[in-house]
Amino acid sequence: MTELNIAHPAGRLSCWFKGRHVNPLLKEINLIWRQADIEWFVESVVEHEPATTDTSAARYVVNAKRDDHGRGDPDRIPRIYSYFNVDKHYPVIQNLYFFPFVGNTSQGFAGDPDDRVNRVSNHAAVGIWSNEYSNGGGPYRTPVGDRARADTPETSPQKRNFFQKGSLGRNCAHELCHHLRLAHPDEEKQAAFQRLMGGKRPAYSLTPNEITTARAEAMRRAKSCLSWDPESIIIQIKGHYRRSPVEEDWHQGEISGQDESGTYLWKNKAGKSWRLSLDPERLVLGTDTDNPDFNTNKTNGREFRLVLKRHSKSGHSEYRVKGFRFKTDYLERRTNGN
Ligand SMILES: [Zn+2]
Repeated sequence: MTELNIAHPAGRLSCWFKGRHVNPLLKEINLIWRQADIEWFVESVVEHEPATTDTSAARYVVNAKRDDHGRGDPDRIPRIYSYFNVDKHYPVIQNLYFFPFVGNTSQGFAGDPDDRVNRVSNHAAVGIWSNEYSNGGGPYRTPVGDRARADTPETSPQKRNFFQKGSLGRNCAHELCHHLRLAHPDEEKQAAFQRLMGGKRPAYSLTPNEITTARAEAMRRAKSCLSWDPESIIIQIKGHYRRSPVEEDWHQGEISGQDESGTYLWKNKAGKSWRLSLDPERLVLGTDTDNPDFNTNKTNGREFRLVLKRHSKSGHSEYRVKGFRFKTDYLERRTNGN
């Protein structure tokens, strides 16, 4: 949005977020989402005038308070939407809005993924200023994000307790979670911490269940907005795959097949081989007890999870098989067989 005059008691909150911030932000979002092998793309960046010059809605937002249960005031949301240019909304892909201020101690909000009435199931807004971590005090400009530092080795002194509070990258990554059907953990019951979904001691992690849920919804949404041809993906499953770096013979091999029952065969350089059964809906290759690494307790010890990459050529987009993940290893597909 171009200039919108939001007068906060602490000073005027400018629309500092510009087109040049989009790429570093996208990089941050994708660093966070890499754990689920979900990659986000920018379809377009639209900067527009506020749809209304009425400042009373902004004044309402600046004064909105959370209730006694900590819930944000829902009436501020339609007022924030009143500044967006609805003609520019994309009906299918995700719409992210960068708004100066989205309410006291709030960083963002996302439309209900099941919303059919207001058609905001793919709309979310984040505050480019926030006072969440100043406990409702003076708003600060939210940093784009520094997830790269969170990826530094565990032993590094920088790493200890690293969590960049209130970054825009994490906020966007979090709001996109809501579109992919993830919910906040119950702080009384949560057993996992450092989560992207918040709760106690929040940070960047998604749980295995959250990854499964998010991937299923991401696939459903991707299918609805891009040409999705499972046949063309299935054709690409066969081929050579290699981890980098190759540290042992199990890190490279070939998928061949299918036999008459539709089963593929994996054979690694160590000469071990086992069967793979494709689940075309979830795009995973299930293994069985003939896999020496088969682990009945863990989903990620039973399946090869296919990693797709969107590929655009002369205005036409399609998905290609880029590799697969098994447990913590990622093996990339070698298109030339080398
Ligand atoms: Zn949330």
